[in-house]
Amino acid sequence: MNTQARLSLNLVQLETWVEAAKSRSDQGSLPTYIPQLAMVSPKAFAVQVLDCQGNCYLLGNADLRFSLMSVVKPFLLLYMLVELGADRIFAQVGMEPSDYPFNSLEQLQADGGWPRNPMINSGAIALSALLPGPDGQTRCQVLSDWLNHWGGCSLQLDYDTLNSVRSAPNSRNDAITTELYHRGTISDAIAAIDAYNHICCLSATVEDLAKLGMLLLQPPQPSWIEPCRQVKALMMTCGLYEASSRFAVQVGVPTKSGVSGVMLSVIPGWGAIACYSPPLDDTGNSVAGLFLIQEIVRSLNLSIFN
Ligand code: GLU
Repeated sequence: MNTQARLSLNLVQLETWVEAAKSRSDQGSLPTYIPQLAMVSPKAFAVQVLDCQGNCYLLGNADLRFSLMSVVKPFLLLYMLVELGADRIFAQVGMEPSDYPFNSLEQLQADGGWPRNPMINSGAIALSALLPGPDGQTRCQVLSDWLNHWGGCSLQLDYDTLNSVRSAPNSRNDAITTELYHRGTISDAIAAIDAYNHICCLSATVEDLAKLGMLLLQPPQPSWIEPCRQVKALMMTCGLYEASSRFAVQVGVPTKSGVSGVMLSVIPGWGAIACYSPPLDDTGNSVAGLFLIQEIVRSLNLSIFN
């Protein structure tokens, strides 16, 4: 039972926290391994908070589109759990946190080719192998149609970012995919990595992302309740890579980050926070996004452990 009352947001407070968060973003840096992500403005910023009463708070550039990158992973997992069931999916990937970075080959090798969890690259590539369709484009379309339908959002494939990903071959993701193939975890390596690259390049606004977050909080059908619970649990334990445990202790809400600078927190019974600010810290999480979510959650007593 919550012993501290949760508070509602007000826009003046949010503005103050946003200004403080933005001023910290120059402590981070843009990722360089995907050229398109290095070309964005480090000052770009947007946040949308949707609460369970239907209130919406938006600051920054509402029209800004950004690639989801790893923030697509909880929603790939949701699709898989709803469509294929937990037994099949947790035979393909584990549910253990990892102390290694998001793109670690060493972790996968140590685990015999069985990905630790669906929030790191190996896990998401292994799940991308289960999307239906002959190629990455078709598989990505299946996932985005499904999410757009259920989430009421408008995800679109960002071809510039996809071309950029393809222009700079990612040897770690390629090695992870090869390892998954040789260990028998996936059977079609080319389609799996192609699908993974496509879905990471789905673009969204903060409104789209907040709506996707609400899908995890307000499952549209009774059969989704358990999948949504499992996705939120994995966001909490694995969503911020090696920083997940620290964030759970210090902040305490299920959260997923992406290397584009996007962050999504979902707070059961309260609402969703979707934020975009590109400069990242050493673990690949948005500096401003982390700070802003921390301020909102602490100030309004929103930790799920309160
Ligand atoms: N597509 C990115 C990669 O594989 C996603 C990583 C991330 O967002 O953390 O490197």
